[in-house]
Amino acid sequence: MAFDSLARNPVALRLDAELRHAHPRTILEAAVESFGDKLALVSSFGAESAVLLDIAAKVKPDIAVLFLDTGMLFGQTLDYRQNLAARLGLTNVRDLRPAYQDLATADPQAKLWQTDTDACCEIRKVIPLDKALGEFDAWITGRKRFHGGDRLNLPVVEQSEGKIKFNPLANWGKADLDAYAAEHDLPVHPLVAQGFPSIGCWPCTQPAEEGEDVRAGRWKGMDKTECGIHLARAPGTPDNVGGDI
Ligand code: SF4
Repeated sequence: MAFDSLARNPVALRLDAELRHAHPRTILEAAVESFGDKLALVSSFGAESAVLLDIAAKVKPDIAVLFLDTGMLFGQTLDYRQNLAARLGLTNVRDLRPAYQDLATADPQAKLWQTDTDACCEIRKVIPLDKALGEFDAWITGRKRFHGGDRLNLPVVEQSEGKIKFNPLANWGKADLDAYAAEHDLPVHPLVAQGFPSIGCWPCTQPAEEGEDVRAGRWKGMDKTECGIHLARAPGTPDNVGGDI
């Protein structure tokens, strides 16, 4: 199983028991109350990101929002990140970029995605997020069980090798998200209208076909289903870290 056991961390275990049926806003409030400024939210500003960002903005508008600008995102995502953050009043969105040295060494032509997607995700997502999360004790993701795959067993609160991870939308389905977005008149990522139900880097994202899973267009035709930031690492390696990405 890709996600860490709760049993090793009594704080995660207690919080999961208390919050497993709670409304996402209640989960956000509990996370803020427990961790304050040691809590971050990781967001891709993708197709379903607006709901969690809106709830976070209502609970703590200066929460640290970590956005992985991999250098391979759609221009529409970069515009959406600016516009949505301003609209919601989020005051602490941080753009995380890959290290120049890592790009120069491992991907000088920006074509690593063609030959080794895991290595590309490592330098463009996993390492930058790992560094940024160093100052936090807990973080919030936008993952949901209805996305399937490893996410089917997602708890509301889990641990990731020393950090607590909150998944406030774990219990929500597409209808819940759509209802919340409509009720709060949230702006939609412009690529949703072009058939993208899940949006990542442009080389690795395609529209989904009718009836396919939400994430079917991510790394289409490959075994890969996650970028690596949500996969537990072997003991002795740095904490693994990530969001709705
Ligand atoms: Fe590279 Fe694709 Fe991973 Fe983006 S999703 S970091 S382009 S392999």
